[in-house]
Amino acid sequence: MNYPSKLIEDAVIEISRLPGIGKKSALRIALHLLKQNENTVQSLSKSLIEMKQKTVNCTVCNNISDESVCNICKSKMRNKELLCIVEDTKDVLALENTGQYNGLYYILGGVISPVNGIGPSDLNFDKLLSKFPSNEIKEVVLALSPTIDGDTTSYYISKKLKDFNLIITTIARGIQVGSDLEFVDEVTLGRSIQKRINFEVFTN
Ligand SMILES: [Zn+2]
Repeated sequence: MNYPSKLIEDAVIEISRLPGIGKKSALRIALHLLKQNENTVQSLSKSLIEMKQKTVNCTVCNNISDESVCNICKSKMRNKELLCIVEDTKDVLALENTGQYNGLYYILGGVISPVNGIGPSDLNFDKLLSKFPSNEIKEVVLALSPTIDGDTTSYYISKKLKDFNLIITTIARGIQVGSDLEFVDEVTLGRSIQKRINFEVFTN
C-alpha cells in the first residue's frame, strides 16, 4: 500500500497489530482519527495508556481489576459456594454476559498444553490449590474450552481436588467441541452454566 505520509504509515502499522484489524481497516481508523480534533485523539491515547498502567490482576481470582481485589470477589451478592475455573478474563466476561451464573471465578491463565510446552507449573495452579480445603466452596465448575488441552487440564484439576469433598461439575456440552467460550452465543452458554453436569461422567 502507498501512503501519503510516513506518519500515517507508522500509525497504520501500529493499529494493524490489533486483533482482527487488517491494513485497510487500520488505514480507515487512522484517517478517521486524523479528522478528529486533538482532544478526542488525546483522550483515546490517554485512556489506553492508563488502562495499561493502572489495571492489575485481582489477588484472589486473577481477573483484571482496577483494585487489588476485583468487584466480583468483593461482592456480597455472589454465591461463595461456587467457584468456576476458566482460562481467561474473556471467559469471565462471556459467562457474566449470560446473567446465569452468580458464583465466583478463578482464572488459570491458560490450559495445560504439552504440544506448546505449557505444563502445570506455568499456570496459576498453586494459588488455586491453596484455596482448599475451604469451608465456603462446595462446588467447582470446570468451564475450560472443550479441546484436548482443556480436557487434560480439567482432568488434572479434578484429580488434584478429589480429596477435598467437593462437587466437581463441568458446563454442559451443548457447546461445540473445540469452540472457545467467548464465541459461544449467550443463550447457549447461559444454558450450559445452568445445566452443569458431574465431571466424573467424562472421566469414566
Ligand atoms: Zn477477583
